[in-house]
Amino acid sequence: MAPSNPSAVVQGRLLIDPAHPPELGWLLLVDGRIAQVNLGELPASVAPPSWGGRDRLIVPAFTDAHTHLPQSGAIGCDGMPLLEWLDRVVFPAESWWTRGRAIPDTRAALRRMLREGAACFAGYLTSHPEPGAEAASFIARSPMRALVGRVAMDREAPDALTAPDIERARRRPISPPVLPESLDTPRVRTSANPRFAIACSPELLAEVGWAVRARPGMFVQTHLAESPDECARVRHLFHVEHSYTEVYDRAGLLTDRTLLAHCVHLTASEWALLAQRRCIAVHCPTANLFLRSGFFDLDAADAHGVRLALGSDIAGGPDVAMPRVARAMIETAKIRALTAPGGPASVRIPTPARAWDLITRGNSDALGWTDAGRLEVGALADLLVLRVPDAWMDEFLVGRLIYGWDHSLIETRILRAGAVNPDTI
Ligand SMILES: [Zn+2]
Repeated sequence: MAPSNPSAVVQGRLLIDPAHPPELGWLLLVDGRIAQVNLGELPASVAPPSWGGRDRLIVPAFTDAHTHLPQSGAIGCDGMPLLEWLDRVVFPAESWWTRGRAIPDTRAALRRMLREGAACFAGYLTSHPEPGAEAASFIARSPMRALVGRVAMDREAPDALTAPDIERARRRPISPPVLPESLDTPRVRTSANPRFAIACSPELLAEVGWAVRARPGMFVQTHLAESPDECARVRHLFHVEHSYTEVYDRAGLLTDRTLLAHCVHLTASEWALLAQRRCIAVHCPTANLFLRSGFFDLDAADAHGVRLALGSDIAGGPDVAMPRVARAMIETAKIRALTAPGGPASVRIPTPARAWDLITRGNSDALGWTDAGRLEVGALADLLVLRVPDAWMDEFLVGRLIYGWDHSLIETRILRAGAVNPDTI
């Protein structure tokens, strides 16, 4: 990683608000943050720019609100619904973390994300405490920001993955089902990650709920209502008639720091409960299509005022590039519109500006980094310098970026106010 410059200038067209065209200007970065946002030409009195130039585009780096670090090598194993895919692809991949794969997998996942312009992510490790702690320490030494958690799970999966929580629960004194607070740093925070209700006994979910209450400010990451088979299995295991969401609520897991991936098959009362608890629904459109799980109902989320984020869900989702996940969000709404019983006009299509705002500012806010993902004074200087065709600099710029995304558009990745080469971490 390149050392941070105490002070540096970045020049280019600043995409401050994706709903409006970018404006020529320059940023002064001091100690890893944006100290000044200036519009207009660079004055002669200011040092030449360290990065960028008059014809470059400056945007905040991306945030991925849902990914799985052990699953980078499992992308593209097609042809199975969720539960079979977990058994045949994901659980074997995660079992490798006790056999030396934790650091190589983490490095591979971080390189891929950095290559595509991400600075920050919310992710899952595996259920193994020691490899998980090693992975968290590796991330803390990287230039990225992250919210990561050890997966808690004690049933309906191979012994290699359920054993850590089953054995932990037998020991006295019992240790918490989450990674220790000592692993938290300013740029890496640990979260509680119960895999999903199928893989967690009621006792384990309750225990995670206690751990979250014991560490105020701790985030929860889990999956909710991804596929119809999963929802049916949860109803059977927990003896509930309708509400998967209530299973988490009873365990005290629904707070304003809870990231719930998918939320595809929810009733109106479940949406209302998520809104009441101020949870974040993490829409993972590429994963929902790949596993044929269903189409996220953005209109229902909006109608209930539920907070929203966007995630790649590697490897359920095949694409690590957040602009392409943003594209899939728009395309999911278009497909729903074309097939809606009420006709195409009954479904609202999100604009490119809204989707872009989610993968920058919106996702950062959802992960608790309200001082990131934006070109503002005081914000963290995690930025991308893009080299885009001149013809793109019009009212359609953000749509062109989303639909025409390629990581070769990125000239420089600036993280912690230093230029980063993804291949060297
Ligand atoms: Zn996931």
